[in-house]
Amino acid sequence: MSTAQGRLRIAIQKSGRLADRSLDLIRDAGLKWVKGHNELLYRVENYPIDLIRVRDDDIPTFVADGVCDLGIVGENVLEEGRNGGPNAEVVMPLGFGRCTLKLATLPGIDWQGPQSLQGQRIATSYPNILKRYLAGEGVKADVVLMRGAVEVAPRMKLATGICDLVSTGATLEANGLVARDTVFESQAVLIKSPTPPEAELADLLDSIMERMSGVIASSG
Ligand code: ATP
Ligand code: ZN
Repeated sequence: MSTAQGRLRIAIQKSGRLADRSLDLIRDAGLKWVKGHNELLYRVENYPIDLIRVRDDDIPTFVADGVCDLGIVGENVLEEGRNGGPNAEVVMPLGFGRCTLKLATLPGIDWQGPQSLQGQRIATSYPNILKRYLAGEGVKADVVLMRGAVEVAPRMKLATGICDLVSTGATLEANGLVARDTVFESQAVLIKSPTPPEAELADLLDSIMERMSGVIASSG
């Protein structure tokens, strides 16, 4: 599928940690939008562009499939969704939404690195990233998917370790966990579809990416 409606589409998180900063970037790049009756779609009034507001998890697929031309998403979500199929292309890192996927355990473990989790169970919402990391470290562990409340797993004896997103460390601390090795460093990135837009929209797409790049460069 492609954007056959004569308008470019930019996929952004509807609400959550990336939502405000994504709209700031789009505004600073010179786009003015109006909120429609439709919560899913904001219409840009000064260019033929629509903002598609969805869950962050859906953004890589929409962009990879050409349903949207651009998207703003965390590298963690992009990386977790890699499946060997056609992929969204990273245009540039955006400098916000920084966070780190880290291993964490209860304190009473003699930590020698990820090897300390050999043969153990690890709970995470990012099984693909974690499995690739463990394979790289030569560690065999039992990776279990938890979609939420990962940080309670060690205390409940559901897992020896967890692999979870950390920004300040407050959540880990509140759950009596100690941050261990880093699995993945993430920030928000601008992604682009491998499917080019209609010919009439190609220059607009380039100019939007150019302006976003200027905004990011000037914000240091
Ligand atoms: P959605 O409803 O869109 O699925 P979500 O709950 O998956 O939302 P948020 O919590 O809003 O997502 O986080 C969105 C992104 O923000 C994360 O994928 C990550 O890239 C980034 N982020 C930055 N700091 C953190 C943090 N401390 N915890 C989780 N995510 C963070
Ligand atoms: Zn999500």
